[in-house]
Amino acid sequence: MSTRARLNLYLAITFVIVFCISSAVLYRSLIDGAMTQVRRDSMLQMEMALAVRKYTMEDIRPLLPPGGEVLHPQTIPAYAANRTMALLEAERPLYRYAEVALNPTNPANRANGWQIEAINAFRAEPDRHELVHITDSPAGEMLHVARPVRPTADCVACHGSAASAPAGLRQRYGQAASFGWKVGDTVGAQIVSVPAAQALADARQTWWRHVGASLVVFAALFIVLNRILSRTVIAPIETRSSTWRELATKDVLTGARNRRSFEEEGRALIAACADSGASLSLVALDIDHFKRVNDCFGHDVGDAVLKEFALRVLQASKRRDCLYRVGGEEFAMLLPHTDLDAAVAFAEVLRRLFEATPFSGAGRLSASFGVAALLPGDTLGTLMKRADRALYEAKGAGRNRVISLTT
Ligand code: GH3
Ligand code: MG
Ligand code: MG
Repeated sequence: MSTRARLNLYLAITFVIVFCISSAVLYRSLIDGAMTQVRRDSMLQMEMALAVRKYTMEDIRPLLPPGGEVLHPQTIPAYAANRTMALLEAERPLYRYAEVALNPTNPANRANGWQIEAINAFRAEPDRHELVHITDSPAGEMLHVARPVRPTADCVACHGSAASAPAGLRQRYGQAASFGWKVGDTVGAQIVSVPAAQALADARQTWWRHVGASLVVFAALFIVLNRILSRTVIAPIETRSSTWRELATKDVLTGARNRRSFEEEGRALIAACADSGASLSLVALDIDHFKRVNDCFGHDVGDAVLKEFALRVLQASKRRDCLYRVGGEEFAMLLPHTDLDAAVAFAEVLRRLFEATPFSGAGRLSASFGVAALLPGDTLGTLMKRADRALYEAKGAGRNRVISLTT
């Protein structure tokens, strides 16, 4: 994977992790905030019910004539609280208030389901003052908060025993209901139910808005960071590494590939052609009497000839990466998908090209060529040796010629 792709991958992974963590933290805090709001709502509901109870006990009860012969349910705290809160429910749908007991005076206030569990939990833990319960109904999530009803001396005055209870109460609800209460016992619970669905839906909507905005910000940040890092870090690294790659694989003077590349790429090409059965030819090229160029015109002209020689070969070739400088003025060409005849023909074209056009500063020059094609079992060494032998023969036969060998 390229440095640029790796940088983008790391950057993207970092952004995704940061985005996920920040979104999760935000979600948690928005939901917690919504539930805190709902709890506050439930507390207000509870305080209102308690105030109604207190009002009944402190402001209404003293107005009643002594004896309690006639029962006015409106003066019973539980009745007053239930009734007032029921009136409120008309304005605040889904908000509920209930006072329930295991053994209620009014059978309509009998605890059931979770309410019984809550009362039993308060009985088991006398220090407990509140229980919270969340349910999921078709109308959405509801928060229920329960507080224990623990009778005071006032309560026991009516509910202590049937004998001491006001006559009106006995008459209305009978002898068995709701007597035997003791101060501090848990006999029931006040339960407030508040809808949480809207608050949670608002929190989720806010969260989605934040997620959308964050995505845009993160994407913009990603692009900006990507550009900055690309320009200040990646581009210089890529330039440097491609320069190093060039220096490691190319010959600086002629621009041909160097001996190291010849050996690496030659071995790879031979393996690939041996596998696929494709043909491969090797042409060894050597400038004739090159020493004389140096001797007669100087080393600089010799260098210029080497450059021009390589340039002419590359211009005549379809591929720009097939020429290798394997020695001082010795070159080699690896021609994949080229059989011996085609390689010989191509070498002949090159030979004529060198011979026909004078080299600047050095005049007419020629070159000799040794050609060999890949045979089964060949290695780069054996193939090169055969081409070299052919080249040697070309030199021996008077130079400026192409010779190929098949063994
Ligand atoms: P032949 O026809 O048999 O190939 O003779 P030749 O003179 O071309 O071959 P020889 O091997 O005798 O001489 C090659 C010369 O190439 C010797 C060396 O000084 C010269 N040479 C090698 N590398 C360079 C180079 O980078 N620049 C220059 N100017 N000359 C070089
Ligand atoms: Mg030579
Ligand atoms: Mg030579």
